[in-house]
Amino acid sequence: MFAFRQFIWIALVTFCTCFGAAADEPYKGRLFDGHLHYSHQAWDVFDTNAALQLLDEASVRGALTSSTPDEGTQRLMAEQHPRVRIVPLYRPYTPAAGSGSWFKRATHLDNAEAAMEAAMHRGLGEVHIHASVVMKSARIRKLLKRVAELGLYVQPHSGYEAVTEIFKAAPDSKVIWAHAGFSDPPSIIGRMMDKYDNLWADLSYREMHIITAEGIDPYWRALLVRHADRFMIGSDTWSVDRWYAFPSIIEENRMWLGHLPKDVADKIAHLNGERLFGLH
Ligand SMILES: [Zn+2]
Repeated sequence: MFAFRQFIWIALVTFCTCFGAAADEPYKGRLFDGHLHYSHQAWDVFDTNAALQLLDEASVRGALTSSTPDEGTQRLMAEQHPRVRIVPLYRPYTPAAGSGSWFKRATHLDNAEAAMEAAMHRGLGEVHIHASVVMKSARIRKLLKRVAELGLYVQPHSGYEAVTEIFKAAPDSKVIWAHAGFSDPPSIIGRMMDKYDNLWADLSYREMHIITAEGIDPYWRALLVRHADRFMIGSDTWSVDRWYAFPSIIEENRMWLGHLPKDVADKIAHLNGERLFGLH
């Protein structure tokens, strides 16, 4: 995946340089990363200083952060970096039980409930929620209701069906839709955002959909302009490889942001995240 993304990026840069095609400058402003992880696999390769240095060098000034286990997020926060603000979400995953089973484990759910009540985190996420399995659980629906009652956020990795179920179970939910559904097309994302005022999304893993060798996708461009207040970029550093790739992931995001009107790019690059989480 990394090699392919690198290839696309180099191909795009070459194309723009050689043919002078719509060579919009990459976005240069500060960033808010709406989808960061600092999970156990990364700890021995990128210690907290190295991880925060990568964010700092990329001008990432805030990051919605979660990790497997939560200790990773706590380690980053403990550094109290002078320029990089960590906005913590609680992820009820452990190395032994993650995306496929967290919702079946009583201890994980006990811990999630306790974390929400303690309000040391800004919400629950990133959690994998499937409409046909996870949302059938009365305990999960109760947890999501409580998250909403407390005014906290949930960041689900879900298709639009599960997001619809979340709003059905807890209409006051504040949802940061991970990857904007990962594979849901702009038409569906747009309809969801028209319908739900409290729906925002990070765009991690969507770079290759937003921009191709032909330039920015017109359907994505129209969506990002129409709902400019709802989107954030995201790096999704779930693996060690993604941490190695962090600078190039950020460059890819800067490149497609550079194709948007400046006021739209500013919102998606940093203003939306900063507004939602009160950073400025
Ligand atoms: Zn993720």
